[in-house]
Amino acid sequence: MSDAMFDVPYPENEPIMGYLDGSPEKKELKATLKKMASEKIDIPMVIGGKEVRTGNLADCVMPHKHSHKLGQYHKGGEKEVKMAIKAAQKAKKGWAATPFQHRAAILLKAAELLAGRYRQVLNASTMLGQSKNALQAEIDSACELIDFWRYNPHFAVQVLSEQPDSSPGVWNMLEHRPLDGFVFAVSPFNFTSIAGNLSTAPALMGNTVVWKPASSSVFSGHYLMEIFKEAGMPDGVINFVPGSGGQIGNPIMASPDLAGIHFTGSTAVFQGMWKQIGNNIHNYGCYPRIVGETGGKDFVFAHPSSDVDALVTALVRGSFEYQGQKCSAASRAYIPENLWKEVRKKLLADVASITMGDVTDFRTFMGAVIDQGAFDNINGYITRARSKAAKGKARIIAGGKCDDSEGFFIEPTVILAEDPMYESMVEEIFGPVLTIHVYKEKDLLKTLRLCDKSSAYALTGAIFGQDREALIMMKAELEGTAGNFYINDKPTGAVVGQQPFGGSRASGTNDKAGSYLNLIRWVSPRTVKETFDPPRKYPYPYMSAR
Ligand code: NAD
Repeated sequence: MSDAMFDVPYPENEPIMGYLDGSPEKKELKATLKKMASEKIDIPMVIGGKEVRTGNLADCVMPHKHSHKLGQYHKGGEKEVKMAIKAAQKAKKGWAATPFQHRAAILLKAAELLAGRYRQVLNASTMLGQSKNALQAEIDSACELIDFWRYNPHFAVQVLSEQPDSSPGVWNMLEHRPLDGFVFAVSPFNFTSIAGNLSTAPALMGNTVVWKPASSSVFSGHYLMEIFKEAGMPDGVINFVPGSGGQIGNPIMASPDLAGIHFTGSTAVFQGMWKQIGNNIHNYGCYPRIVGETGGKDFVFAHPSSDVDALVTALVRGSFEYQGQKCSAASRAYIPENLWKEVRKKLLADVASITMGDVTDFRTFMGAVIDQGAFDNINGYITRARSKAAKGKARIIAGGKCDDSEGFFIEPTVILAEDPMYESMVEEIFGPVLTIHVYKEKDLLKTLRLCDKSSAYALTGAIFGQDREALIMMKAELEGTAGNFYINDKPTGAVVGQQPFGGSRASGTNDKAGSYLNLIRWVSPRTVKETFDPPRKYPYPYMSAR
């Protein structure tokens, strides 16, 4: 057996492709979209490397054309969950014993496959199944996921190489083993990259995983499983079990072998899972690690010295890209009275120019929201803002039309809220709805404190201004409001390796996806002390005389 101290290749962010007319990437993406849209695939579960079909089927549809079925997937239940746990436990010993550089090599290979042959497969499946336009798919299912897979091996080396001091004659070491059981990865619909990271980050650290994708993103999840397989992920290391939340979640929570939850999704679901774990705590073989990134009520706060064009662009891109369905999307804004007239004029002009429709038409800026449940929920906020009950508190100043006849389309909508505690100023809507409160310049400090305290969340936030002293004060006042804080930029678009992502308060455990801070949650350390020439007699020298 040869030894070496290996260096993981130094990671770099994957460049974003341009998809200009006539470019090879646009041609390949268009051809892949056409082919996928013409098929209707059968999606099995994958448990212990084997395809499992229950015949309990659900459809994968295009949100922007919901009559179009892309495929059907087999839903799992308690029986399949038990099979998946067994497969994960069986694969565990061999996987944990696989040298780190080989586990890392599988992720690095997956990154290369995704950067090349699979790029347009994953982009097209994300566009069709999750209604992302070409750029939104490219920055998610291609670039961000490639970055996760290239950077995480590098961050893992940071975790593994951190060692304690040693003293003369003694060598102290810290070693890391995977957790004592399996990890349950639960992913949201809105980012294919998150699905690919939640399942693989614990696996990189030697854990085996049961992965439940969101029902509305099983289609792209299926192609992720193909990449894992081709990259050489051994059978049983990542087990793919789609199904309804409780039917998969409940038997998992009841398993004594549950060692961790790697969750991204809504605050309510995460809190429910935490309670279940609390109720079962006496049944587990270890204390499960609970890592969850959840909801947000992300803000843009403008100082009277802000550059209006930069501010308006951040509001439009931050609020309406991917239909506002990013956890980081701007959904409330505080604008000073001195700028409001100009901001309003430019914002409404920009919003009126936004194109919405079929995402396979490259002129489209916005697609549809994910499903009927999301459509009804967002429509509810818009309908209430229009109602008599909202009079004097809030009113719609742009957009507001909702039409689910062909696809789940909601116009980019701007609500002006005189009441800064109006529901759409403080609750997560998760759709293309921006609510604005205009404040008097003299009330800057009061309004900053309102921004801090009026929402339960603390995920992302942005401040705008040209006055440096004001920026220093605003940043300090808003210290606890966001795990990802931006100055003169939109609050979305975190890049792996550059802005580690996650929030606190009701937004999550802030374990920062895409950093060593996340990976460290998936290992159990052991301290080892070796003494080279240990004492051979028990009395100590001080005992030699009275
Ligand atoms: P969701 O909470 O509805 O679903 C997330 C996942 O949990 C899905 O796979 C779902 O099937 C599963 N689930 C639901 N009930 C369950 C149960 N009882 N047991 C086990 N699993 C269960 O969220 P979503 O609609 O898919 O995603 C949108 C939400 O995700 C928003 O709140 C958004 O802010 C949040 N989000 C947060 C981040 C972040 O990094 N903070 C990133 C993306 C999305």
